[in-house]
Amino acid sequence: MLGLMQDWPLLCHRIIAHAAAIHGAQEVVTRSVEGPIVRTTYRQIHDRALQVSQVLTRDGIKLGDRVATIAWNTARHLEVWYGIMGIGAICHTVNPRLFPDQIAWIINHAQDRIVMTDITFVPILEKIADKLPSVERYVVLTERAHMPETHLKNAVAYEDWVAEADGDFRWKTFDENTAAAMCYTSGTTGDPKGVLYSHRSNVLHALMANTGDSLGANAADTMLPVVPLFHANSWGIAFSAPSMGTKLVFPGAKLDGASVYELLSTEKVTHTAGVPTVWLMLLQHMTANNLKLPHLRTVVCGGSAMPRSMIKAFLDMGVRPRHAWGMTEMSPIGTLAALKPPFAELAGEAGLDILQTQGYPPFGVEMKITDDAGKDLPWDGKTFGRLKVAGPAVAKAYYRVDADILDEDGFFDTGDVATIDAHGYMRITDRSKDVIKSGGEWISTIDLENLAVGHPAVAEAAVIGVYHPKWDERPLLIVQLKQGQNVSREEILKFMDGKIAKWWMPDDVAFVDGIPHTATGKILKTALREQFREYRFPNAAA
Ligand code: ADP
Repeated sequence: MLGLMQDWPLLCHRIIAHAAAIHGAQEVVTRSVEGPIVRTTYRQIHDRALQVSQVLTRDGIKLGDRVATIAWNTARHLEVWYGIMGIGAICHTVNPRLFPDQIAWIINHAQDRIVMTDITFVPILEKIADKLPSVERYVVLTERAHMPETHLKNAVAYEDWVAEADGDFRWKTFDENTAAAMCYTSGTTGDPKGVLYSHRSNVLHALMANTGDSLGANAADTMLPVVPLFHANSWGIAFSAPSMGTKLVFPGAKLDGASVYELLSTEKVTHTAGVPTVWLMLLQHMTANNLKLPHLRTVVCGGSAMPRSMIKAFLDMGVRPRHAWGMTEMSPIGTLAALKPPFAELAGEAGLDILQTQGYPPFGVEMKITDDAGKDLPWDGKTFGRLKVAGPAVAKAYYRVDADILDEDGFFDTGDVATIDAHGYMRITDRSKDVIKSGGEWISTIDLENLAVGHPAVAEAAVIGVYHPKWDERPLLIVQLKQGQNVSREEILKFMDGKIAKWWMPDDVAFVDGIPHTATGKILKTALREQFREYRFPNAAA
C-alpha cells in the first residue's frame, strides 16, 4: 500500500522560491569582482534567476543540457546557478585553478553549450576556446562598462544578456531524480571524473547540512562561504543557506587573510566555511594585527585535516571549530565533529581530542571500514580500514564512465583510510595511496603533519613515505617554515618526540620554500614524491 501524501518532487529551484517567499528581504552581500560591495536579496536573486531561465530557454537550452560556470562566489553566480537548474539544465561548476588543458578536457567531456565566466577567467578561456567546439556562447558575469574586449564566441555582458528577458516565466516541475549539477574531481592521477548530482540528492543534502550539529546556522545567522561554489556546491551552502534564510556574504575573488577578515568583521558574520589554508591566512593576519571577531561563532573547516593548533586557536577566540570531512562524490558532507553525549561538556585536551576527529555522519550518510578483502572491521577507535560510504547524496557512478564503483552492499570506497570509535566518531589517518607502510605496519602521514604544524616556527608540513632498505618505507617530514623563522631538524624532531609512537618518528626533515597544492587546496603529494624521488635517508645504509 502506498502512502497518501502529495507528490512534491525535491527540486533545487524550490529552495530559492522558498527563500524569496519567506525570507525575501534577507540580504546577499558580495565583494564584487569589479571591486565594490554589492547588496542584493533572496527575492532579487530569485527574480533574476527566473530571467536567466527565460533567456537560456530562448537560446535553446533545454532539459539535460550542460551550462558551465567558471566563477567566484558572487550573487550573480548564485542567480545563474538557480536559473540553469530551474529549467532542468545542468549547472557544471568548473574549477578555474585547474590547468587550462584540464579545463578544456572537462568542458569537452561535459559537452557544455554555454560558459558563464567572470572577467578574471576570460584570458584563460581565450587561450583554450579553439579547442571547445561544443561551446556556443560565452556570458561574462559583468556589466557593459567592465566588459573586456574579447574574441570569445558570441561573448555578451551578463547584465545585457539577462535584461533581454522580462522575468515573465515559470519554472517547470519534473522528476526529482533529474540531473541538476555536475562537478569534476580534481584528478591528481588520471583523468578528472564527473560527479552528477540530482535535484533530489542536492535537496536532501541541504536538509542534512541544516542541523545544529552540521553547519549549525539559522535564519538569524550570517554565513560566509570561503569554500567556492565550484568546490562541491560550496559544501552544500549554496542550497543550505537559502533553504534556511541565512544571510549570505560572498567574498568574490579576494580570499587572502585581510580581505576575508574585513568581510567577516564588517558584515558581522556568525558562520564561515573553508579549507585549512584559508584559516591559516586569517589567523596569521589577526595575530599580526591584534584583531578580534566578536560576532563569529562557528568555523567549518574541511577538505584537509584541521590541525590541532588551529582548533585550539579558534577555541581561544571563543569560536566553535567544526572539523568536517567529505568529498565531491558525497555532495560533499560525510562527517562533522560536533560534541555529542557523552562528550558534550568536554573541555581541555580531552575536548580537543574529539574536535580533532573528522566527526560523525549526519542522518543520510552510512559508513563502514573494511580490510582489503572487504571484511568489516571493528569500531574500536584503533583499527584502520578502508572507509566506505552509502547514502542518497553519494555517487553511484561517474558521468560517462562505464564502471561499477560500489561494492556488493552498495557502498562507495572513499579512498581514505580511517578508524571509527564506538560512538561513531571517524578519524581519517590517510589517503590509501599516501599511508606509509613501514615493516608491514601503517603510519599515518596526517597525524605526523598535524603534530609538526603545531611547532610555532612551522607554516606547513607534509609527510611522504621514502624507500628504506630495511623497513620498505619510512616517513620523511617536509617542512616550510614561517617567514623569518629558523629552526633545526633536531629541534623539530625533539618537539615531536614523546607525542607519537617511537617508530612513527620521521627519519629525516627536509626544509623547502613552498609546498605544492592541488586545485582544491590539498598538499600535492604526487609532486613531492617526484621531487624527493632520488632522496635517500642518511641512516639507511643499504
Ligand atoms: P573536496 O572537493 O571536498 O576537497 P575532494 O573530492 O577533492 O573533496 O577530496 C576529498 C578528499 O579530501 C577526501 O577523500 C579526503 O582524503 C580529503 N579530506 C577532506 N576533508 C578532510 C579532512 N577533514 N581531513 C582529512 N582529509 C580530508
